Amino acid sequence: MSNPYWSPAIARLHPYVPGEQPKSTERLIKLNTNESPYPPSPKAQAALSAADLGDSLRLYPDPESTTLRETIAAQFKLKPEQVFVGNGSDEVLAHAFYSFFQRPEPLLFPDISYSFYPVYCDFYGIEPKCPPLRDDFSIAVEDYAIDGAGGVILPNPNAPTGRFLPLAEIEKLLELHPERVVVIDEAYVDFGGESAASLVDRYPNLLVIQTLSKSHALAGLRLGYAMGQAHLIEGLNRAKNSFNSYPIDGICQRVATVAIADREWLADNCTKVINTRERTCQALSELGFEIVPSSANFIFTKPPKITAEALYQALRERNIIVRYFNKPRISEYLRISIGTDEEMDALIAACREIL
Ligand SMILES: *Cc1c(COP(=O)(O)O)cnc(C)c1O
Repeated sequence: MSNPYWSPAIARLHPYVPGEQPKSTERLIKLNTNESPYPPSPKAQAALSAADLGDSLRLYPDPESTTLRETIAAQFKLKPEQVFVGNGSDEVLAHAFYSFFQRPEPLLFPDISYSFYPVYCDFYGIEPKCPPLRDDFSIAVEDYAIDGAGGVILPNPNAPTGRFLPLAEIEKLLELHPERVVVIDEAYVDFGGESAASLVDRYPNLLVIQTLSKSHALAGLRLGYAMGQAHLIEGLNRAKNSFNSYPIDGICQRVATVAIADREWLADNCTKVINTRERTCQALSELGFEIVPSSANFIFTKPPKITAEALYQALRERNIIVRYFNKPRISEYLRISIGTDEEMDALIAACREIL
């Protein structure tokens, strides 16, 4: 790729390609980007239509998102200065890569994990080093005992496998690299994991990142947050305030504050998704699918009798979109987001017919 107007830096980038977002989702069963099949908390929806919201847009939003950070801190028994917010957790991740990982030493993350990590490495000129997952797709923490690492990042539960790494293993990682930051990306933790936020006060090198995009059903709002000791949050703020002072607009601050406070809605929503996930796993394994144990709102599965790519295509023809990764080690697997019970019944029926 090149263009005479582009800087050399832009010409050599390899940007992330998001999952397909079709213009119209009518007649389509969309199980490809791990969004919530249910609408967000009614309280959050009410905050969105509050009467004075329009007038408040005349002014710049609070650059520190103070109320929002206080609300997040209270949920996790942390202090507001231990919380950073960004425009989606992708932006929080970008600032974390810049603030902590931009070093001559390599950044460690699993060979199979969130495909944005290599993109940030490319963007910031960080060398990736990727210890392979075990054959069952679990993370072998002993493989991260690498001298001279620049840091560690992993999703927990991992994506796209859905496997959860217990906190005792996370603590081993933190102890392996006491001088470097370990980022735990908890985009899916509410669906059956346990948050490492409880370890923040004990580990000066721990940064935990969460998002409203998956369990809170607010992917369109764009709000992610990081939790860590104040010195790490200060590092992130230095990057943020050198880039964009107002990443969180006023509407987002109001809606996100209400959404995060509504714990009851969150618990109900996750229970519904988990129940549907377990039903779906049961039905697919009866059809002969191999299923990786999932603690997320998706399943990672290998179909019987047919290649993953062929099944992906056959489902696509029936207006069901799932995610297929044409990558080493996982090209025989599909990642299927958990939809409503009706959507998953349609998926199961389609698989039965195709096989
Ligand atoms: C979805 C996802 C994100 C991005 O979330 P946003 O807050 O929508 O930017 C980050 N990490 C992982 C592992 C994800 O799956």
